[in-house]
Amino acid sequence: MTGNEIRTRFLEYFKQKGHTIVESSSLVPHDDPTLLFTNAGMVQFKRVFMGEEQRDYVRATTCQRCVRAGGKHNDLENVGHTARHHTFFEMLGNFSFGDYFKKEAIEYAWEFLTRELGLDPEQLWVSVFRDDDEAYELWEQIEDLPKGRIVRLGEADNFWAMGDTGPCGPCSEIHIDQGVEAGCGRPECAVGCDCDRFLELWNLVFMQYYRDESGKMTPLPKPSIDTGMGLERVAAVLQGKLNNFDSDLFTPIIDHIEKISGRRYKADSNDNVSMRVIADHARATTFLVSDGVLPSNEGRGYVLRRIMRRAIRFGRALGLSGPFFAGVCALVADLMEEAYPHLRDARQLLDKVVNNEENRFGETLDKGLAMLASEIERLQKEQGDRACIDGQFIFKLYDTYGFPVDIVRDVALEKGIAFDEAGFNAAMEQQREQSRKSWKGTDVDHLDQGVLELLEQGRQSQFVGYSNREIHCTVE
Ligand code: ATP
Ligand code: MG
Ligand code: MG
Ligand code: MG
Repeated sequence: MTGNEIRTRFLEYFKQKGHTIVESSSLVPHDDPTLLFTNAGMVQFKRVFMGEEQRDYVRATTCQRCVRAGGKHNDLENVGHTARHHTFFEMLGNFSFGDYFKKEAIEYAWEFLTRELGLDPEQLWVSVFRDDDEAYELWEQIEDLPKGRIVRLGEADNFWAMGDTGPCGPCSEIHIDQGVEAGCGRPECAVGCDCDRFLELWNLVFMQYYRDESGKMTPLPKPSIDTGMGLERVAAVLQGKLNNFDSDLFTPIIDHIEKISGRRYKADSNDNVSMRVIADHARATTFLVSDGVLPSNEGRGYVLRRIMRRAIRFGRALGLSGPFFAGVCALVADLMEEAYPHLRDARQLLDKVVNNEENRFGETLDKGLAMLASEIERLQKEQGDRACIDGQFIFKLYDTYGFPVDIVRDVALEKGIAFDEAGFNAAMEQQREQSRKSWKGTDVDHLDQGVLELLEQGRQSQFVGYSNREIHCTVE
């Protein structure tokens, strides 16, 4: 089944079950300055769940375009390294606004996966929130779910909240066991492990409580349902692939990158990462620009700029020295405009914006990359295994060449050298203090929020490397 077919099958299935098919909303959340990008299907229904807005339906289904790069959900650095994360992805969802609850949500999800899509129950597992006996018992009643496949997990994985206050509740997730070879191979690997073996397919959120300022939870008079399933993951599973990037949603993009770079996919692990990142970031760029986000140095535009620059740098890693990214984005628009007709209206803009960024950044990228390469060479020669790229140096690259720290991280990872993220963040912080002073009194509140969020996140994140390679270092 192709990705396009799965999308249609999902919406049609829930339509049959009395759901109204609602169009995906924009990646720029309407009226919600607290959120950088739409990162789940429920975002456009927030006010409906809160009871602040009435619709003429109580059941809805969507295929929502989402971006998880920045803010609370940030998968930017996972892309290319895990088999299941994208910055841009499509989330399939069904929603009940005070109508059906756990029983139907569980039954629909099970029926859709096993009957409509034909997944083998023998491979499926479900998780429920630790204290949610009701969900546990409902799953026990699903006849063809093999015994012993329901696991109880804690708050981090199986409890959902809209914010510090507001609607919240336990969730239940459906996972597919893809076999030992798909995962970390550790003996303790099980549902909830962060590797790709027990692939999380679908999250069913049971909005059941209202949490007030004091943290007290009171049952909602009309509990609701919010679910989300990543289309790319289902497509890969149904097509017998262990990596989302091997599904038909990505194959034409990867083929194109192979062609323009003259390199083969699956021939070299660094090249694989480069190709996947470019394919992913081209989708994100295409959709963000089409929703009106433009590269800039603040807020949403800054995230887009980071995404574009990262893709362009990975192009260099594949030996692509000239402009190539606009071509990849145009292909994404070709492939996706049937499902997302609004892409058609943005094609010219997309071409212009991407070419512009690529020309602008291309000139300084090469100089910055050369500087970084010689610095790494010097450090490795002088310090050997203890070599660590200095935070001030990274900041200088950022400040002079517009080199986002992601690029330094990517290069460091490829070269197996540590870098001083804390030192970089401190330098950023200093600059942020200065610019914050100069922002005062300007009318860019929501953009500031985005920048703050990003910087906040940068400051807190401690990069510990992929696999078990420790890349982060601290300065003594
Ligand atoms: P994971 O644990 O794999 O990071 P998650 O628990 O963060 O996923 P949810 O917030 O529960 O994901 O989102 C609902 C569904 O959306 C997931 O079950 C998954 O199918 C899909 N999904 C989430 N994040 C991504 C992503 N970055 N790329 C592709 N699909 C995603
Ligand atoms: Mg996640
Ligand atoms: Mg999860
Ligand atoms: Mg989840």
